[in-house]
Amino acid sequence: SYPEGYAHEPTTEFRHHHEMRLQGETIERIAPTLSSANKIRVSIGQTLPESGQWSISVNPTDSTQVLATVEEASDEQVEAAITAALKAQPSWAHASLTDRATVLRRAAAYLRSHRLEINAVEILEAGKPWLEADNDIGEAIDFLEYYAIWAERLGHERLDSPAGETNQLRYRSRGVTVVIPPWNFPLAIPMGMTAAAIVMGNSVILKPAEQTPITARYIVQAFEHAGLPTGALCLVTGRGETVGAKLVRHPQVSTIAFTGSRAVGLDIIEAASQVVPGQISLKRVIAEMGGKNAIVVDADADLDQAVPGVIYSAFGFAGQKCSACSRVIVHRQIFDAFVDRLALAAGTLIVGDPRHAATQMGPVVDDAAQKKILGMIEEGKSGSELLYQGALPELNGYFVPPTIFINPDRQSALYREEIFGPVLTVERAEDLDDAIWRANDTIYALTQGIFSRSAKAIARAADAARAGNFYVNRGITGAIPGRHPFGGFGNSGVGFKAGGPSYLLQFADQQVISENL
Ligand code: NAP
Repeated sequence: SYPEGYAHEPTTEFRHHHEMRLQGETIERIAPTLSSANKIRVSIGQTLPESGQWSISVNPTDSTQVLATVEEASDEQVEAAITAALKAQPSWAHASLTDRATVLRRAAAYLRSHRLEINAVEILEAGKPWLEADNDIGEAIDFLEYYAIWAERLGHERLDSPAGETNQLRYRSRGVTVVIPPWNFPLAIPMGMTAAAIVMGNSVILKPAEQTPITARYIVQAFEHAGLPTGALCLVTGRGETVGAKLVRHPQVSTIAFTGSRAVGLDIIEAASQVVPGQISLKRVIAEMGGKNAIVVDADADLDQAVPGVIYSAFGFAGQKCSACSRVIVHRQIFDAFVDRLALAAGTLIVGDPRHAATQMGPVVDDAAQKKILGMIEEGKSGSELLYQGALPELNGYFVPPTIFINPDRQSALYREEIFGPVLTVERAEDLDDAIWRANDTIYALTQGIFSRSAKAIARAADAARAGNFYVNRGITGAIPGRHPFGGFGNSGVGFKAGGPSYLLQFADQQVISENL
C-alpha cells in the first residue's frame, strides 16, 4: 500500500444474507427516530440560546416525511462560533501532528462502528441506494486514514544547510477554516475537508448542506468521540445564501474549503478577495466545482465494458455526482450498435425506493432539483432527439426518469450546462480526433474517459484530455482516496486533489527557520 500503512476501506458485502438483513433492520430501527422532533442545533461546545428560526429536512423518497427540524443560525450564533473556533485553535495547533493524526484515526473507528446506522440515515435523508451510501462512508473513513498518515510525514523538513547554518521548513496552522460542502456525498466530502483542516491544526466551522444536516451531525459526533477539544469543530447550520455567505465574508476566517456548484464557488472566491482594514490573513479558497463530463467510445471498444460503464457513470445516484457522465461520444462505426444496447441496458435499471436493497436509482434530492432537471429535459426535446425515457415509480418523492438523448443540439443548455440528474446525451464522432475535440469542448475539466482496445488511441486521448481525472475502460465515477486523487481544473475548481499527497498543504502556511550556529 502507498503510503505505507494505508488501506482502502472495503465496502459492506450486501450480497451476503447476513449483512443485507442487518442493513434492512437498521433502516427499520432508524426511520422512526427521524421526525420533526429530531432537532439539529448549532453546536459550538457551549449552550447557546436558540435562534428561533427553523427549517425542515425531508425524505426525498417521500416528501411528506419530515426527518429533522434544523436551526437556522442567527448572526449572534455565527459570531459565537467564530469566537469559539478562534479560542480553541491555538492549543489545538500546539498538539503534535501524531496526536492530531490519532484523533483522525479514532474518528474513523467511530464511523466504522456506526456504519450501518449512517448508511440508513443517508438512504433516508439523501435518497441514496445502499451501495452508494456505503461507498460514501467508506470514502470518509479513507480520507481520515489517508490524511492521518500524510500529516505524520509532514514533520519539520531539513533544507540545504551549509556549514554553520541550519535551515528548516515547517508547516504552521492557518487559523479558522470554514467548510462548505454539497449534499451529494454528505459524509465523505465534508469529512475530507474537515479532517484535512483539523489535522493541520486549524479549527473548523462546518456549514452543512441544507438537505443533509443529519448526516453532517455524525461528523461532529465522530470528532467528539475521538477527543477533539471543544470548539475546534463547530457545526453551524442554516442556509447557504445567508449563513454560508456570512461565514465566508468573516474577517477572522483564514481558509475556506468549498465543494459545490460553480456559481456559488465563484461568489465565494470573489467574496474572499475583499479585505477589511485590520484583517490579518488573506483568505485562501479551495473550491471544487462542477463538470460536464464525457466518455469516448472508440470504434474498437468492448461494448460489454462500455455499456455498463456508461450506464453506471450516468445514472449512479441518479446522476448527482460531479464526476457523472453526461455526454457520450461514439465513433460513427459503432454508433447504432452502441445506442441500441444502451437503451436496452437503461431499461433494466431498477428505479424506486432506496430503502429496498435492489433499488439502483432513487429520487433526486429535492423539489428544486426535480423541477430544474425535468425543465431541462423538456427544453432538450426541442433540439435533441429523445432515445429513451424510463418510467416513474408510483411514489410521493422527487423522481426523475432516466433519460437519454441522441444527436444533441450542441449549443443547448442540455449539452452545455451541468444537469446534475439522470440525463445523458449521445453523439456521433467522425473519428477519434473528432471525438477528443468534442469531449474537450466544455469550460469544465473534471472527469473524462475512453473505452478503446487500442493502446495508441488510449495514449492520444489521455494526452489530449482536459480533465483532472481520466479513466480508461471503466466508469468515470467512484474515485478512491489515495488511488485516484480527485479534482479538476479549468472551470471545475482551484486547489490540490482531494485524497492526494498535496491536499493537506493547502491548510498550512510554510515557514522557514534559518539558524546561524
Ligand atoms: P451548491 O448549491 O453550490 O451548494 C454547496 C454548498 O454551498 C451548500 O452547503 C450551500 O448551502 C452553500 N451555499 C450556497 N450558497 C452560498 C453562498 N452564497 N455562500 C456560501 N455558501 C453557499 O451545490 P450543491 O447543489 O449542494 O451540490 C452540487 C454541486 O456540487 C454540483 O455542481 C457538483 O458538480 C458539485 N460537486 C463538486 C465536487 C467536486 O469534487 N468537484 C464534488 C461534489 C459536488 P445550502 O445547502 O444551504 O444552499
